[in-house]
Amino acid sequence: MKSSRIFNSRPLILLLFFLLVSCHQQFLPSLDEIRSITGSICIRNVSVIDPVGETVLEGMDIVIRDGVIQSVSPSGEGIAEKTDLEIAGEHFYALPGFVNTHTHLWQHLSRSVSPSEQLQQWIPKVYRPAFHMTDEEFYELNLAACYDALLHGITSVIDWSINADEKKFEQVIAAMIQSGLGGAVTFTHTAVFLPAETQLREFNRVREYALQNDRDLFVAHLPPERIPIPTLYDGILLATTTGVPIAEHILENVQCQRDWLTTVQGYLKDYGDSLQAGDKKFLEEIAATPEPPSIDAIAAMSQNARIILDLIGSSSEERNQYNENDIAYLEALARKTGPTYIPFLEHLGAFDNGYVSIHSAFLTPGDIEIYKKHDIYINHNPESNAYLASGIAPIASYIQAGVPVTIGTDGAASNDRIDMLAAMRLMSHLQKVVALNVPLPEGLDSWGILQSATIEGAKALQQENRIGTIEPGKEADIVLFRAGSFEMQPLTDDPDCLANLIVNSAESRDIFAVLTDGKIRVWNNQLVDMNEELLARRVTQIRDNASSRSIPENKGREWIEEQTVTDTTAIIRYRSIYPNYTADVKITNESEYPLEVSIVLSDTEKAGGLFFSSETKSRFPYKKLFTNSQVKTCSMEFPPGSTFTLKKDSGGNLIQFQASLDNQVHEVLEVTLATDPEWQWSIRAMIYLEIKVKS
Ligand SMILES: [Zn+2]
Repeated sequence: MKSSRIFNSRPLILLLFFLLVSCHQQFLPSLDEIRSITGSICIRNVSVIDPVGETVLEGMDIVIRDGVIQSVSPSGEGIAEKTDLEIAGEHFYALPGFVNTHTHLWQHLSRSVSPSEQLQQWIPKVYRPAFHMTDEEFYELNLAACYDALLHGITSVIDWSINADEKKFEQVIAAMIQSGLGGAVTFTHTAVFLPAETQLREFNRVREYALQNDRDLFVAHLPPERIPIPTLYDGILLATTTGVPIAEHILENVQCQRDWLTTVQGYLKDYGDSLQAGDKKFLEEIAATPEPPSIDAIAAMSQNARIILDLIGSSSEERNQYNENDIAYLEALARKTGPTYIPFLEHLGAFDNGYVSIHSAFLTPGDIEIYKKHDIYINHNPESNAYLASGIAPIASYIQAGVPVTIGTDGAASNDRIDMLAAMRLMSHLQKVVALNVPLPEGLDSWGILQSATIEGAKALQQENRIGTIEPGKEADIVLFRAGSFEMQPLTDDPDCLANLIVNSAESRDIFAVLTDGKIRVWNNQLVDMNEELLARRVTQIRDNASSRSIPENKGREWIEEQTVTDTTAIIRYRSIYPNYTADVKITNESEYPLEVSIVLSDTEKAGGLFFSSETKSRFPYKKLFTNSQVKTCSMEFPPGSTFTLKKDSGGNLIQFQASLDNQVHEVLEVTLATDPEWQWSIRAMIYLEIKVKS
């Protein structure tokens, strides 16, 4: 009797299947092996998803050398030269890395702190601990956020940072370099209140460091409704003087419109008579705009009515498909628009060097025309706008008008994550909720959304020659999705099917590998050069430390520095000083030149008005800024061989700095901070110290 006849073949088939699966896995190096690999890479026989061509190129070899894509060609037909690593590409779909055009990396500090409030109530809670991180903590926190972004397939960002002292912008850039995350950091003009010329020097110094490392700087002037008009203009001037683009929060919610109206009316009342005719006319027109409805949802309904009217179109043929009375109802609703500042920003020159318009949830039809004229890029953050109950940005209208839309996650405190897959999904869903039975434009299909998340983001960054597509000559910023993943089934041969699955179904666990600049940063869903658990624990520790220091009764930050000056390089320091902050700074002049020490101490950054450029001062007066602020200045000669010290003890609202030369007190600088129950957490002094060769 032949025993094989009665042999049950099922276990054998299963065994073969598992062997086959494990053999496949063997083609892929382990995480440890990947760690030791440097040099050239070939991703062989991979399906390349091409959002620009709206197609999937199957069986391609991507060859990467020196961080750059050398070739993309049908498998076996390209460059024959052997590479240091060959990845079996048949297991993957390759997509250009995501470009996240708006985030606040530092907000990993405040994730989930305030999930149920609108922007204006949310800000104090989220920002409260932000100014109390040490330099090292700020760096580590930004690093954690960079790695989190990479784990989600994000390879470049436009980060909108905060600044509490002179090292912060460099620390964000350093964290991006260390992790391999590309992109740009936004230099918040208002946070760096230095004399105009010194600020410009400081900006150029930081930008040079960024550019040397393939990152860049943008300027942020702060949202117009939150700052005095001269401050806004001074920020715009920094961008126009340096020729760099601006990235700023624009009309994020209805309250921004109300606040803008109050800002303009107040400024006109105080300074209207001293303004140039052109500026005055602009502001008067804004001041005459009706207030937005008192209930935000009505303004949102009005906004939605405009989206639907835009989609229905202006031709009578299209309109005839709909009931006349319904159209009239929409038109009446659409008229409930609030004030805007877009024409004023154009008037001030804000759009001259490129502008990434963050959020932009409440723009008027006229604003859209201005954006078209200046090639402005919209940054859309659907999750953040939903989270903070801000509204649904009318991106269907923007896309229809030809204004490019890019995607951001916003910070991890208004989201609460840094996940472009989730943002893409919500982007399409929210517009459908508004439009219902009215068809959306093509740009909102899955290919359009993938373009927004890749090449359009690259253009907003002004880096479309470097990133945004998988093409020879571009930086190798690539995400490898697992082919055959559970989520992305069933899959047909139609390329649209794969695009739809990436946008609507893929999860971050489907991201197997992430490369930036040709280096593998994520492999098998894990960070290649960092321990995720350690990073996670550190974020919680940093949050505990910063929160503890933000309580006035507790020990605050320490500014301890000991330095010698040996050459002509100037030392520039600017710091946010809370009452419990202590300082012990010692600088010895070992150069052969007499130096000059200049110190400016002021209560709150508003005193920065002192430092506005002469152009700002002459165009937009703001006398109150000076009379209401306490500003103490001192300067002293600092001869060769002597030692300068600056000291502050922990204390109450009286902020006192002692400046000494060779242990002789030269001057005591004092300001008293105001009290404001609501904003107490943000009330701080600013100190600015410059040591340079005496002129
Ligand atoms: Zn933001």
